[in-house]
Amino acid sequence: MSKPFTARSYAFTEQGDALNWIGGKFVPAASGQTLPVENPRHARVMGRVVLSGPADVEAAVQAARAARKEWAAMPVRERADIFYRLKSLLQRDIEELAWLVSHENGKTYAEGRASVEKAIECVEFGCALGNMGAGEQLDVSRGVNCHVEHEPLGVVAGVSPFNFPLMVCMWMLPQALVGGNAFLLKPSEVVPFSAGRLALLVKEAGVPDGIFNIVNGGADAVNALCDHPSIKAVGFVGSTRVGRMVYARGGATGKTMLCLGGAKNHLMIVPDADRTLTASNVVASFTGCAGQRCMAASVLLAVGNVDAILDDIVSGASRIRLGEDMGAIISKAALDRITGYIDDAQRRGAKVVLDGRTAKRPDGGYWIGPTILDHCTRDMPCATEEIFGPVLSILRVKTLDEALAIENANPYGNAACIYTTSGAVANYVTSRVEAGMVGVNVGVPVPREPFGFGGWNHSKFGAGNMTGYDGWRFWTRPRKVTTKWTVQSDTTWMG
Ligand code: NAD
Repeated sequence: MSKPFTARSYAFTEQGDALNWIGGKFVPAASGQTLPVENPRHARVMGRVVLSGPADVEAAVQAARAARKEWAAMPVRERADIFYRLKSLLQRDIEELAWLVSHENGKTYAEGRASVEKAIECVEFGCALGNMGAGEQLDVSRGVNCHVEHEPLGVVAGVSPFNFPLMVCMWMLPQALVGGNAFLLKPSEVVPFSAGRLALLVKEAGVPDGIFNIVNGGADAVNALCDHPSIKAVGFVGSTRVGRMVYARGGATGKTMLCLGGAKNHLMIVPDADRTLTASNVVASFTGCAGQRCMAASVLLAVGNVDAILDDIVSGASRIRLGEDMGAIISKAALDRITGYIDDAQRRGAKVVLDGRTAKRPDGGYWIGPTILDHCTRDMPCATEEIFGPVLSILRVKTLDEALAIENANPYGNAACIYTTSGAVANYVTSRVEAGMVGVNVGVPVPREPFGFGGWNHSKFGAGNMTGYDGWRFWTRPRKVTTKWTVQSDTTWMG
């Protein structure tokens, strides 16, 4: 059961088991199988998560189908009204939720809290749909009017990754529910607890039973969602490898799919960049959430002589205190992967100017300090593959065009950033990078609501974006109605 989370510090706290939430009740999975869920800060088991399969997805779809027609028949403003209440409840319980996210994911408390605040911002957008959800209309010819109605799709589903347990769910839920759909969430099996707490808040806010359901588990649960004929759309956020598979599998059954994938974000620094702003911003970008963000800096392209800024980046990152300013790595496997990239880069000739492998760590848990690899080359795995840890790989280049060529050649396209005080340089870069989200002196260029979140290339499969107004378009279908009320003798078939 999803009992209230009592921790208000980093002291290890158990949470019990994460069950499925179907038709407004917590229920075990049909398989009877469970997985342990670790608190990464302590490497200790907080509880277990149930592993679902097709039978559980079927049960959730049945609950959703039973409830969805009445929900869809409510005026959009009444559904949005419930999201106002949800916003207040999230604000009421923000302490609990922030600590829960921190414990299940390993983030610092401040990062956990910021992620809940962002979730609340997404809920606010859902509230706004009570006003903004109006369809378009136009007199398309004499006496002929066309208008668009945004209709719900029916039963829809979302799959989320481990790095933002509550927040990524809220990239989807407000638009999907205010849009009149019934929703099945498959949280990451690594961080299932905050979804259970969310279910209780969604119910308390007044969402009817069966409209929001949780099916916990891993690949089997996701495959069952993709295969179920009654599920009309799936939103997915996770790695490129899995996102590509999920996109193909769900698409094969005719679903509308949007799958956000992994990233390899390039930041560029030119000599005119502001030294203080740039250094602190780059450090925050690659160390925030211990580098486990799809928006984190990964490759730093140092154009010309920017040595003074690089020195400041190294000294700023060396002051980060593990456990206080930066959280833990999600698992032992992830820690081994990150360490492996650093070892490999060193073997290939990169210079480890800040070595997180030797950083002072808190007791227990999965920790690595900020790591900076200088003089990397563009063929090294640390410069081309997603590491998903607090590692910055510096490549030295002579010109901005050389930097752009490297950025453009990488297969991902989530985020990029240019640090400069020149508007001309900023324009030159923002109009040429192969990235869907671009920063000018902003190392984590997350488009805040109402702008849609989503990258390009191998960082996204499907059209549009996950959040903002694009999310409304994704989770609804437009019905185009053309009307004519007067007889006209002087018209062609276009009139
Ligand atoms: P992941 O791809 O391993 O898992 C994501 C989801 O897919 C989870 O719910 C998981 O249970 C499920 N899954 C795992 N293997 C599966 C399989 N074989 N078949 C079907 N489903 C499967 O990702 P993760 O490790 O949880 O999260 C980190 C990744 O997510 C990184 O690559 C990061 O860049 C990416 N990410 C991207 C964005 C974005 O907006 N583009 C946001 C957050 C995270």
